Amino acid sequence: RLFDVLKFAEELRDEMQLISKTNQVITYRHTGSERQINLDQYLIRHCLTNLITNAVKYSGENTVIEFSTEITDQQYLFTVKDNGIGIPEKDHALIFEPFFRAHNTGNISGTGLGLSIVDSYVNLMNGEIHFTSSLNQGTQFTLSFCKTKDETKDTLQTPSINTDFTY
Ligand code: ATP
Ligand code: MG
Repeated sequence: RLFDVLKFAEELRDEMQLISKTNQVITYRHTGSERQINLDQYLIRHCLTNLITNAVKYSGENTVIEFSTEITDQQYLFTVKDNGIGIPEKDHALIFEPFFRAHNTGNISGTGLGLSIVDSYVNLMNGEIHFTSSLNQGTQFTLSFCKTKDETKDTLQTPSINTDFTY
């Protein structure tokens, strides 16, 4: 289940760059000294593909989409930020409902299922999804997953030889 976040994310970025619009650039950045992630790689890939596809679809040509990952002591974080059409405030509460599409999508096509699937996958992985969005300015989605106790222990300076003997 462990995978290298840089290899995974750079590959995904390159793949998504192929479906982007003219002069849309997808940047990628990782923060943190650790590189190993312990999550279901296929579920997380599916989520990020959906979020980046939305970023591409709901923003114009000549814009930058920022994809980033971060590993902290406690969490794995994935962020997708665009400078697109944004989500109207009154639609924020409904965005994860199946078939819901915001009122500013115009002639951009879609079924309204992507985010509801992302939401259920994130729940399956015991994570959280959050977003901030401003109309005509852009949107940022963040997925966060708490490391399990075992994973956080890995990062502590525990001696490899146990010198604590009890009789
Ligand atoms: P599809 O099922 O093909 O993904 P969709 O993109 O319309 O269709 P969702 O991905 O579920 O459906 O997104 C739901 C709605 O949320 C979209 O219709 C759009 O109104 C809004 N939305 C999602 N992501 C963004 C974004 N990055 N910028 C602006 N609006 C967004
Ligand atoms: Mg979508």
